[in-house]
Amino acid sequence: MQSDEGSAVIALLVLFTATQIILVALMLALRESAVGRAWGAGQVLACAAGLLVIDARGGSTWFLLVAPALGVAAQLLILRGVSLTDHRPSVPVPLTASVLAIAAVLAAALGSGSSLAEVTGYVVAAIIACFTLARLLQRPFAPTRRSRPLVLAACGLQLLAQYCGLYAVLEAGAPEPALSAEALLQLRLLPALVAILAGLAGFTLMAMETILAEQEKQARLDALTGLPNRGAMDAAAMTLAAEFNRHGHPLSCLVIDIDRFKRINDSSGHRAGDRILQQIGRVLKETHRATDLAGRYGGEEFCVLCPHTTEADAILLANRILRGIRAIALPRELGGFASASIGVAQIRERERENGGRATWDKLFGSADRALYEAKRRGRGRIVLASKLEALPAHALCRTARAEACH
Ligand code: GH3
Ligand code: MG
Ligand code: MG
Repeated sequence: MQSDEGSAVIALLVLFTATQIILVALMLALRESAVGRAWGAGQVLACAAGLLVIDARGGSTWFLLVAPALGVAAQLLILRGVSLTDHRPSVPVPLTASVLAIAAVLAAALGSGSSLAEVTGYVVAAIIACFTLARLLQRPFAPTRRSRPLVLAACGLQLLAQYCGLYAVLEAGAPEPALSAEALLQLRLLPALVAILAGLAGFTLMAMETILAEQEKQARLDALTGLPNRGAMDAAAMTLAAEFNRHGHPLSCLVIDIDRFKRINDSSGHRAGDRILQQIGRVLKETHRATDLAGRYGGEEFCVLCPHTTEADAILLANRILRGIRAIALPRELGGFASASIGVAQIRERERENGGRATWDKLFGSADRALYEAKRRGRGRIVLASKLEALPAHALCRTARAEACH
């Protein structure tokens, strides 16, 4: 009997130690993500609490005092991990409340012995686990998040583990326990271990999904200006163009090129040029409507997509942007203010194509031709594609590009 109990304890020790090693390794691997860090640390502490409970059987009751505090801290970190995934303000339990909860458990432990400390620890941990579950259930269902059911299951198991632990501690303190000491230890530890393992799977997936989503977002942004980059603009434009093909809603586009930008780099250096580009990015962010999409299309070229907007309305936006750019002071060496040329085009009914890409190519081509005509006419102005239609497009584009190079 004695040796059976000993081997069960050893088995638990091995299981918890192996899980702890995996958790620490995962936490290190996912340290890039705040969710991964919070969750990993929570699971590590929960596992450490289990190890302390097993080790306390060797005689050190001090371990039984620390384990409940670790259990509470673990639940708080898990709650924080969940809150971080939905980009809402952090945990509703502020840090002070967390510290107080842990302090209360320790105070109870020091004042009245380990049993009361353990009971308090399980109760506080169960309350926090309820918070975590409520928070997860509150969140609108995101079908792309495959980790959600796993995380929900892990949090539910955490709650169950706290109840099992509480029952085991209360039962162990009873004059005639219904279960053997070994069974009570297993009741305390096995549900906790299953919850940790489910959490390990769920949160690894959740942290990976968060990291991937963040990287995808970064890949769509231009690092210098923070505006969507060319790839993101093309993707959005193709969707809007496909909508135009289907429903015929007006769609306009502005192509903006900064005038004589090379001079800024040549006279004041690339850093100064970069700062001007950032200021132009800010002008674009501030001037376009919420439904428009402004992005950096290339070096010193920007593009604004205006869904549900006619050419006449797009001109108003182009004027606002031009005014904003003209208010940007150039470096002292050059003096004066920045300037830009803007081509404006609206997709025409007769340019309706089969695919979004072909329609977008036509729209961009029209705005680009208008832009080069603006350069040809002396820069610092807006030209409408509709006003160029009398001219043969290829000839105009070639002339304009050739002149712009000189
Ligand atoms: P134009 O009026 O005809 O448009 O003349 P431009 O000088 O603006 O045009 P050009 O195409 O000759 O030069 C564009 C310059 O933009 C050249 C390139 O070094 C600079 N540029 C492109 N990307 C960046 C960037 O990210 N930072 C900086 N500082 N400069 C850039
Ligand atoms: Mg250019
Ligand atoms: Mg330029």
